[in-house]
This record gives sequence, C-alpha cells and structure tokens, in this order.
Amino acid sequence: MINKKLIRSIYDIVPSYYKEGHTYRKYYNLAQRNDYLTREEFDRVQLRHLTGILRYASIHVPYYSRLFKDIRFHIDKVDSLNCMKDIPITCKEQVQENLRDFQSKIYPSSRIRAIYSGGSTGIPAEYLSQKSDSAIERAFMHFQWSRVGFSPHNNNKLAMIRGVKPLKGDYEIRNGILVFSSYIKNQKMYGEYLERLIEFDPDFIHAYPSIIDLWAQYIIDNNLNVSLSKLKAILCGSENLDRIQRERIEKAFHTRVYSWYGHSERGCLAGECEVSNDYHILPDYGYAESITSSGDIAKSDEPGNLIVTSFNNKVMPLIRFNTCDEVILSDQLCPCGRGARLIKKVVGRTNQYLIDSKGKIIPANVLLPYELLGLFKNVRQYQFVQEKVGECIFLMNVKPSFSVEDEKKIKAEIERELGRNMRFLIKYVDTIPRTKNGKLMFLDVSRRLDNSTRFN
Ligand SMILES: [Zn+2]
Repeated sequence: MINKKLIRSIYDIVPSYYKEGHTYRKYYNLAQRNDYLTREEFDRVQLRHLTGILRYASIHVPYYSRLFKDIRFHIDKVDSLNCMKDIPITCKEQVQENLRDFQSKIYPSSRIRAIYSGGSTGIPAEYLSQKSDSAIERAFMHFQWSRVGFSPHNNNKLAMIRGVKPLKGDYEIRNGILVFSSYIKNQKMYGEYLERLIEFDPDFIHAYPSIIDLWAQYIIDNNLNVSLSKLKAILCGSENLDRIQRERIEKAFHTRVYSWYGHSERGCLAGECEVSNDYHILPDYGYAESITSSGDIAKSDEPGNLIVTSFNNKVMPLIRFNTCDEVILSDQLCPCGRGARLIKKVVGRTNQYLIDSKGKIIPANVLLPYELLGLFKNVRQYQFVQEKVGECIFLMNVKPSFSVEDEKKIKAEIERELGRNMRFLIKYVDTIPRTKNGKLMFLDVSRRLDNSTRFN
C-alpha cells in the first residue's frame, strides 16, 4: 500500500525549482537574467512589455479597445515610457462596476480564477487572472528572497506567522512549513511559540511585521537570547515596516529583516536591495508611476499615489490602475549597481489591530482572511471601527443588491474571526469617512478610548 503521508513529506522537501513546473522556472530565470540591467536597459525592457500588453489589451479587452479608440491612442507611435501619460487612469470602482468589460475575450474560462482583495482601503474588489498566475507570483517572490539567501534549488525551511491559521491548535507543520497562529492570547504563549520555533530551526521566518514585532518585544523585554543558527532572514511583507520595528526585530532575532512591496492586483512588485532598504521594481512584473493629489505625475522622490500597469495577467490586464497606495518613487541610482527604479517608501498601509475585552490583540491583517472576501460582492465599501476596547463597529456602504442573506453570512464569519470576547455591531452608512489625506482606511482605531491598553 502506498503511504500517502510519506509521499507528501518527500514532496514537501523537493526544492521549488523542480516541483513548481515550467512557468515557475521560466519566470524565475527571467527575473534572474534581468536583475542587473542598467537604467537604459531597464527602461527598454519595461517599454517592450508595455507595448506588448497595450497591444494585447487594445485587441482583446473591450474596455481598453474602446478607450484607445476614443482617445485616439496609437500603439505604433509608443516609443518612450513618457507616452503612458496620454492614457487615462483606471480606478478600482471602474473595474468593479464593469468587471466583464475588463476581461479578455479570448481567454478560456477553464483557465481563469478570481482573486479577491480588500486591501488597506476597505473597497472590496474582485479581479480575474489565469490559474498559472500563482506560479509566476511565487517565482518572482522567491527570486527577491534569493537576495537574502533563499535558494529555489534547495529545501528552505520556513516558519510562517502571517494570517494563515493552523487547522488545529496554535501551530502545526503544514506542507513542510511550521505555521503559527497570528492570534496571541497571552504573554505565556510566546514562550511556547519560541520553544517550538527553536526546535524547528528554520532558515527563514515569513511574517507580518506587526506580529513578529510583538514577538521581538517579548524577547527583548524578557532579556531572552533566541539562537536560531540557520536563520538567514525574516521575510516581512504585506504591511508597512517602520525603522523602529525593523531594528527591534533584527535585534531580537540576530538576523536581517527583508521586506518587499506588492499588492493583490499584481501590477508592481519591488523587493529590498541587499545594500539599502530601498525597493527595486522588478522590470518584468509591471510598470509603476505615481501621481500627486492634483493628478500630475509626481517628480522623483515626491510622494504620490501608485499607478500600475500589469505585464503578466492576460485575463484582465490593468493599465494605469490606481492602487490608492501612497508611495515615494525615485529615479536615483542605487549603489548596488542595479538600474531598476526604486520605491523609497510605502505610506498608508495599515498595520493596526483591534483589542477584545480580554485584551487579546487581533491584527488588522487577520480580520478579513482572503477566503471571506468573496462574500463582499454586494458591498461598496466597509470599515472596521473600534472606539471602545472589546467592541467593534462594522460600517458598510452596500449596493441595492445587498440582501439579508449577505448580512447573515458576513456577520457570522466576522464574529467567528473576532471571537467571543468582542461585541460586534453592523452599521449601514451612505459614506465612509476618509482620512485627512482623502484615503479610505479599512480599520479606524483613531478614536479608541483606551488606546494604550496592552494585553497581559
Ligand atoms: Zn540596490
């Protein structure tokens, strides 16, 4: 009899480069080949991808083919990156209201999958991409991690603390990865978690910065010496990572923190450089621009909203799509020798948390797990608000198609996420207040009374 468990555990240790398939290898090799382009080469590669995707969209995607005709945009005349400014910006709401209009006519439905995104802005969104998309994503991601020692040719032992819930208990080994729960019930748990981590002896820890930072604070506050001899880096994505968090995590774990910027619409991916904390934009992933609040193209090193054009999604290519993430793009050249353009800073990504009546911390990133975002089809915007510890108000601006059934499902799922020690109330609103910068935030704790409350 074949022992399925044994086969599974052998498969888990096969290096990514061999088990991930052709698409993964193709994109990994591409990223590797184009890592050290000069600035001129970088721009040339970006222009080649751009003209390719613009031509494809003009022929196969109804929205863009109409738009280019209306504005008389001729792809044959595109001879520099500067030509992009002639194309109007696409915003999230436009895509959500006309999803099929943005879908390629030629892509077979058997190869399409939906991606859901809530993002930091609280506008639920659905995008379509090809099924092979996840292999492309992993290839680029692993390539970035290779800057701090990750090798797709070897088995890299990974511990994960980022919103993936263990199926049973507080931690488990899943597909060879040690997965920890992101919920922290009390300080004692850190001791148990750290013991398990040391026993596992990972090469990398993949974590939300806000959560691993709480671990780091525990280690420093208790004067612990955590020795993980093989640990090459702590991989921190999906949230802002500030300088203080970075220093604290590096001090506690005696290793480097490696960070990157990406988003669910997959129009830009940029990973930290080994010699600085700036992010290099991957030339074969997408094109990044930024615009100021008055709609002008931001100058180098000036903050602006990130506008992206995706290169690899043939099901729903997004062209000059406004991510609503505030970033600082820079034309400066990095001392590492790569000519790739830089993201100097990502502003406006939330890493806040709710606190329940027992003082348990519920990080923003686990409030709405990916699997639940599909429930928000009839919701325009939403926001979690906490004014009192132990109470959470959920504001929703809903579409006319929103039903009692929708409310029931959303309520049940969120209550399950929040646990028994949080009073949960839904409030329907016509608008959700924006921050003073005009940004929608999906979690607002700015008016929380006992803001200093920490768990015990
Ligand atoms: Zn660099």
